[in-house]
Amino acid sequence: MKTMTSTILLTALAVISRPQVGGTEAPRVEKRSFGTTPAGEAVDLYVLKAARGVEAAITNYGGIVVSLRAPDRQGRLADIVLGFDSLQGYLGQKGYLGAIVGRYGNRIANGRFSLGGVEYTLARNNGPNHLHGGVHGFHEAVWKGKEASTPHGAGVELRYTSADGEEGYPGNLSVIVTYVPTDAGELLINYAATTDKPTVVNLTNHSYFNLAGQGEGDVLAHELFIDADRFTPVDESLIPTGELRAVAGTPFDFRTPAAIGARIDAADPQIGHGKGYDHNWVLNGEAGKLRLVARLREPRSGRVLEVQTTEPGVQVYTGNFLDGSIVGKQGRAYGRRSAICLETQHFPDSPNKPAFPSAVLKPGERYQTTTVYRVTTDGK
Ligand code: BGC
Repeated sequence: MKTMTSTILLTALAVISRPQVGGTEAPRVEKRSFGTTPAGEAVDLYVLKAARGVEAAITNYGGIVVSLRAPDRQGRLADIVLGFDSLQGYLGQKGYLGAIVGRYGNRIANGRFSLGGVEYTLARNNGPNHLHGGVHGFHEAVWKGKEASTPHGAGVELRYTSADGEEGYPGNLSVIVTYVPTDAGELLINYAATTDKPTVVNLTNHSYFNLAGQGEGDVLAHELFIDADRFTPVDESLIPTGELRAVAGTPFDFRTPAAIGARIDAADPQIGHGKGYDHNWVLNGEAGKLRLVARLREPRSGRVLEVQTTEPGVQVYTGNFLDGSIVGKQGRAYGRRSAICLETQHFPDSPNKPAFPSAVLKPGERYQTTTVYRVTTDGK
């Protein structure tokens, strides 16, 4: 009897925990057309269904997260990322909305770095500096997409080979980014790359979150927690000075959850440089290990976004440069601070800062990072 009960229990458990991959389960990945680029390349949209109604739509144009739908406390769905209704909006976009940025996400001072005694020159596309991979970064590449089964379940795999010399970077870089919807209502992003010459790599996702729903005003009432004792202060062109400064006693201390708007206009020179928050936090815990690093909560809807990453840093950008000129989904104009980006990354300008965690990738090595965006509610 005892044995039989255990057998029944075990069978029941097996059914509950059976991964929703293949078989007769509802498909977790659906593919449809997302239009054609001006060069005539067909582009797709992959709809990924995670648990609890969480659903992401990803296009192989720029690896962009086009939408991320998630329920509020009452179960009402909203799209919580900024973006455009069609491919047209993303062509030549300036804000990197939802995109994979690379080869080097964030800034490299003066568009220059040296590796193995050779100096490389990159585009200066952000004042005197290089930003987000250059003029034609990964955010506007057409990636090769396919549905894929991964250790975390079914998802979409995007591949892009960045040629030696593209945007000034050395080495043919083969990149694989995988987006996977999970049974815990998460969007898991896995980034992998290999090279045939020493190069620098820093890949991230540039989604703009507004947990009240895209186009629903500013994010100043969102509460933010960041597990970081230090941040990297910057000069007026947003290049880190090299210092790792304690957040204690500054507007950068989010170790206790605080409203984004509480100190965003504080009389602090660092806030002045970013016109608000546009800084890299030095995450606590061991880089290379997946750990919870940030939590964002929107009090009215109760939506909560948790960020886990293996990366050493996160760039928090509160949309200070948005000015209403981008008109996105459903005709919504995206005003100043109408979203927050949580860009997990290596620190900005690491190629010129030997004391920062290295962003160098050599032949024979594998670049491998993971970031998980988990959307839940506060259950109040
Ligand atoms: C940068 C901002 C920039 C934004 C859009 C962020 O990652 O830190 O300064 O305006 O991307 O390009």
